[in-house]
Order: sequence, then C-alpha cells, then structure tokens
Amino acid sequence: MKNYMEDVIREVFAEVLKNNPDFCQCEKCKQDVLALALSKIKGRYAASPEGEIFARVEQADRQVRTDALLAIMQAVQQVSANPRHDRTADFTIDK
Ligand SMILES: [Zn+2]
Repeated sequence: MKNYMEDVIREVFAEVLKNNPDFCQCEKCKQDVLALALSKIKGRYAASPEGEIFARVEQADRQVRTDALLAIMQAVQQVSANPRHDRTADFTIDK
C-alpha cells in the first residue's frame, strides 16, 4: 500500500512539476511536497482495513490519481507559501 501510493504520488508530482516550472526545484522542497502529499493521501485511505483498500485502489485507480493530484496541489501551495529550504542549503537553481 505504502509503495503503491508513493509511486502514484511521485508520478503525479513529476507531471505537476512540468506544469509548474516556477515551483522551487530543490530537493528539500520536492521532498516536503512528497511527504505532505503522502500523509494527506494516507489519511484519506487509512480508514478501511488493508485488504479493502487494495481492492478499492485497483478498481479506482483514476480516483486515486485524482486524490493524489489534489493532495499534491495542496502540498505545492503549502510548500511554496512557506518553503523550508534555507539560504545556506546546498542546492543550486539554474536561472
Ligand atoms: Zn526549495
């Protein structure tokens, strides 16, 4: 379950990044978005017993992706509004 949701989140996030070139591309912000989105998604899907989740996930792949996209968009906004990278962090932006 964890790996499945992580895969979906990473895949959808990669698409979101392509469409949002202004979002900070440093590892810290990307990790923060992934972690936030994953925790939001897990909260949504944690309510049912695991077997049921699996069945539901496979049947409702589209719905999972839509939920993942929403969670990522929220996480992107959250991280953009309050990025946790500091000025001394070891990253470079090609601009
Ligand atoms: Zn950043």
